Amino acid sequence: MTTIRETLTALEAEAMAAVAAAADQQALEQVRVRFLGRKGALSTILRGLADLDPADRPAVGKLANDVKQRLEAAFEGRREALEAAALAAATAAERLDVTLPGRPVPSGRLHPSTQVLRRICQIFADMGFQIYRSPDVETDEMNFEMLNIPAHHPARDMWDTFYTTTEGVLLRTHTSPGQIRAMRQYCPEPIRVILPGMCYRYEQITARSEIQFHQVEGLAVGRQVTMTDLKGTLVSFAHRMFGPTRQVRFRASHFPFTEPSAEMDVECMICEGKGCTVCKHSGWLEILGCGMVHPVVLQNGGYDPAVHSGFAFGMGPERITMLRHRIEDIRYFWKNDLRFLEQF
Ligand SMILES: [Zn+2]
Repeated sequence: MTTIRETLTALEAEAMAAVAAAADQQALEQVRVRFLGRKGALSTILRGLADLDPADRPAVGKLANDVKQRLEAAFEGRREALEAAALAAATAAERLDVTLPGRPVPSGRLHPSTQVLRRICQIFADMGFQIYRSPDVETDEMNFEMLNIPAHHPARDMWDTFYTTTEGVLLRTHTSPGQIRAMRQYCPEPIRVILPGMCYRYEQITARSEIQFHQVEGLAVGRQVTMTDLKGTLVSFAHRMFGPTRQVRFRASHFPFTEPSAEMDVECMICEGKGCTVCKHSGWLEILGCGMVHPVVLQNGGYDPAVHSGFAFGMGPERITMLRHRIEDIRYFWKNDLRFLEQF
């Protein structure tokens, strides 16, 4: 009788000490199983009540229940304290430092071709040229025939073409068919347009040639438009594009849709005209082709060559970008490699 009371008292003291010593919720749960579990110390003692003198059972039973309730209350109190401590620790560890600088949002930028295209368009817009859009998918007639390049013409050997499955329909090999479209739309009014856009040629892709590239074509048609106008316009363009002191020269050339034809060179911007590998030690870089619109092309556009005249020019923004920045491989433009694109 005395023994079981003492055992209960000792058990309570031991359990209370263990509860107080439990450092976290996991340790506390182990203590609870040890003392209050179905196979725990208290249950074992309670099962022993059956062996007691029936007269002593109520008193001992009440004591055992009191011990159990006190222990359960102690467990509950300790559990709440540990939970609060764990929450406080987590809050302290995950505290938001509002003074930290924000994460930068990566911002995009315009593709180098687009930047140069827009610069070219801006310069010509300031000279009164409007942007004229024409289709990427063209007819053989517009891409070749109307530009004085008939089927047998050797100029067609200069490029190979992406033909569609529809006969006579192709991806334009140059922006020049837009000249015919602009003339037919505006005839007999004077014209001052530039035609920027993508062109396509069925070529082997190398460091020097791509199957797609941009061109910017220009066209001015009116009464008494002369070679002087052409030169003045293009020299002004070169000075704004490449610097006001940049030297420019024109060399005679040949294109089927202009007569006379020329190519325009600018002083090399890498070596300032002294000669380097980019300009092949000539000091000059070829920038564009130009000329007076061929009378046949004027006629195809609806204009009378006896009354009207015009000039046209065409340039490649990628080529200009390559020359300016010494880019040695045109394939970089469509590779989507950020290491390349982020430099512009
Ligand atoms: Zn050079």
